[in-house]
Amino acid sequence: MPTSHELFLEASKIIPGGVNSPVRACRSVGCEPLFIASAKGSKVTTVEGKEYIDFVESWGPMLLGHCHPEVSSALHTAVDLGTSYGAPCPNEVVLAKLILEAMPNMEMVRMVNSGTEATMSALRLARACTKRNKLIKFEGCYHGHADAFLASAGSGVATLSIPGTPGVPDVVVADTLLAAYNDLDAVKAHFEKNPKDIAAIIVEPMAGNMGLVKPAKGFLEGLRELCTKYGALLIFDEVITGFRLDFGGAQKRYNVKPDLTTLGKIIGGGLPVGAYAGKREYMSQIAPSGNVYQAGTLSGNPLAMAAGIATLNVLKKSDYNALESRVKRFCEELTAAFKANGITAFINSEASMFTIFFEGIEPQNFSDVKKASTEIYSKFYQHMRNEGILLAPSAFEVAMVSFAHSEADFEKTLQAASRFKI
Ligand code: PMP
Repeated sequence: MPTSHELFLEASKIIPGGVNSPVRACRSVGCEPLFIASAKGSKVTTVEGKEYIDFVESWGPMLLGHCHPEVSSALHTAVDLGTSYGAPCPNEVVLAKLILEAMPNMEMVRMVNSGTEATMSALRLARACTKRNKLIKFEGCYHGHADAFLASAGSGVATLSIPGTPGVPDVVVADTLLAAYNDLDAVKAHFEKNPKDIAAIIVEPMAGNMGLVKPAKGFLEGLRELCTKYGALLIFDEVITGFRLDFGGAQKRYNVKPDLTTLGKIIGGGLPVGAYAGKREYMSQIAPSGNVYQAGTLSGNPLAMAAGIATLNVLKKSDYNALESRVKRFCEELTAAFKANGITAFINSEASMFTIFFEGIEPQNFSDVKKASTEIYSKFYQHMRNEGILLAPSAFEVAMVSFAHSEADFEKTLQAASRFKI
């Protein structure tokens, strides 16, 4: 088997940047990517045969860990029944029911193939329902790579410091109004200036794509009130938070009701999937029951449905509180380990996610996030990678913990972090 380095050289000749999604190139942390041969539980194994404790978890989907036996078994069964029909299959109904039971504020759901498709389609629907064009989004939030969202976006757009993306027409992003996360006054000002033009607010109800930023008390409630007052739709982008912050997502944890919700990652158990959901009055406007066109050859794919159902059925019985307490304690231990080495770091954590802001403060928004040291993060990333631990290859992301992470994994990670010196 060629090494990761050899594969990367080869890939770079025929795949842009050598990767099929930008951040995984590891450029911002001064490394080359590791090519993964297999994964199991909390670990991934590279083509060189080296095992790593994985805190990327495919950027969120693998909340149960890799190759969970019930998910694998559902997939093995499904694969022999055919991989795509282009016609409805029973499991689409089963997964739709599971999602709607978990998020009772939603009444109908449409499956798509990625988070990007979910947000893009939800925006189209919001525009159609309100007959308005403008959108409010928050700096540092990422909602996939559809044109309208590529204004001051998080994730790879932030990591690579891409100010605006060539190829996105100015007229498209001209309808995207920006506000700082947690800044209700800025949102209010947009509404006062455009009282009849704003179709929707899209928000990560807990931001994960600029590193972890929590919603301040009253922020999500304030967005809800403003949307109701001005007749705009509130879209919760729960591609990361859905089934992770709580089985019922951020809307359950924070008890705020959005009009539309976008989902991805976990609901496909590691297969390519996304979904958007909402009240019947909105969702019934989607074709073929309504005129808002949205379609997909592979949507509701039988393999993705099988993996999603198995994942949600296991998660339903999982102890989210226990995982959250363990992650919280781990973050405290990590902060103390840094302190012992003279390193200051603010670790923000929520449920099974955390971000280390070296020399940073508790962030309220993207400007606060940028006060933290990306240089120290890069050194830390490299140090941990040498120690057999994989973190997100960017300071502007969250570390994901799964139900498969063991006491030994936490202990090994803590020991490795306590050997980090600057
Ligand atoms: N929304 C959020 C909140 C995300 O985190 C992401 C992906 N990281 C997306 C949308 C886009 O999802 P995908 O990469 O599946 O297109």
